[in-house]
Amino acid sequence: MKKILIPILTVAFILITAKLWAGDMKVGIGRKAITPQGDAWLNGYANPARLKPATGIAHDLWAKALVFEESPTSRVVIVTTDLLGLSHEISVDIAKRLSDKYGIQRSQLLLNSSHTHSAPMVWPAAGMFYYKPDDMQTVYKYTRQLVEDIIAAVDMAMAGLAPMQVWSGHGEADFAFNRRDPKLTIRPVDHDVPVLKIATPGGELKAVLFGYACHNTTLPGDYTEVNGDYAGYAQIELEKMYPGITALFFQGCCGDINPNPRGTVEHAMQHGKSLAESVQKVLTGTLQPVRAPITTRYETVELEFLPFDLQLYQNDMVTGDEYVQRRAKLMLQAYNKGWDVSKYNYPVQCIRFGKDLTILAMAGEVVVDYALWAKQTFKKENLFVGGYSNEVMCYIPTKRILGEGGYEANSSMIYYVLPGPFADNVEERIQGAVKQVMKGVGVKPSK
Ligand SMILES: [Zn+2]
Repeated sequence: MKKILIPILTVAFILITAKLWAGDMKVGIGRKAITPQGDAWLNGYANPARLKPATGIAHDLWAKALVFEESPTSRVVIVTTDLLGLSHEISVDIAKRLSDKYGIQRSQLLLNSSHTHSAPMVWPAAGMFYYKPDDMQTVYKYTRQLVEDIIAAVDMAMAGLAPMQVWSGHGEADFAFNRRDPKLTIRPVDHDVPVLKIATPGGELKAVLFGYACHNTTLPGDYTEVNGDYAGYAQIELEKMYPGITALFFQGCCGDINPNPRGTVEHAMQHGKSLAESVQKVLTGTLQPVRAPITTRYETVELEFLPFDLQLYQNDMVTGDEYVQRRAKLMLQAYNKGWDVSKYNYPVQCIRFGKDLTILAMAGEVVVDYALWAKQTFKKENLFVGGYSNEVMCYIPTKRILGEGGYEANSSMIYYVLPGPFADNVEERIQGAVKQVMKGVGVKPSK
């Protein structure tokens, strides 16, 4: 009797499991090193030490790709990069290449950057203005190769599509710290560590996508080697813990968030280790299944800057700061040519897996308030929130931060060469766009 019972139970288990995974989702995993070959100009700090090329390579940087596919209309490609951020031009270029090659729609492609401040500059970057023509050529050449490498990582993932089981969970890490004025009463943080586990039907771990909302600025401006910062070390740590897997880091809404403590390679390694341990804890705990179908939305919303202030830029032209003068010069040029510099087309994206998980991805250096707002507004949804997605054009403050002023509200726009600050409806416009894309994938605000 016993001998018969076991096969029956096994068959029943397989049938139940098959039903549970009825979405028939395939996942492909790809990776390509994007470590610079030869000279590289590091991006992220206006520091005199950065006025020469990188002096070494601490570890490889990577473009890593995950393709989730049920069918060509039910799929998504997620690419993570150990970079400060992708420019609008490069994001458009990659999207076009993947559309031509695989028919991937714009909403089916999510590009996220870790925002490490010790990675090569990507063309075109505001920081390029003090470079000589040969140096610009170096940046341009790196960027051309970067596009090829990202496509190669996606090619590898597409070629390796195989049935997989996907699970999600959340952990915590506590080294993220709100870096704005310590006297402020509101200093929010988001210590969530969202985790996506990808395993074979037999349960063998193949990849893990994990996030955190914290600037990759553990390493300071006078650090001059190529380095993925804490996110780079966290990925290395996980790939050591689970040999053969691909670990992908995606950055959250950390515009106003720094790691603490910071300043040395040891600090970056320490944060990487604690983040990897948090991910490991999630992987060994109870996880929720993530199933097809995959629905995606990608929309842009016009964000307005404050009205153009001709007098301000004329005054800035005679101040001593070269960055202020450069912005003023470009703004006056735009004004004289009649170009419209009154708004920015800002992308917002949503990816939903069945009713199991939604990934909300916002462009730019999004401050943490947006992630906290989204998690509260859609609290019934299992939500992963990414910033630094698709393109990084400047900081994205809230109305509160605009009112308080400071770097994330105003002065950072000088370095990004934009006519900031934003008008104070920026938060309302973005929240409206987020609600729109969430509605598009079937998620309404929770009551
Ligand atoms: Zn930043």
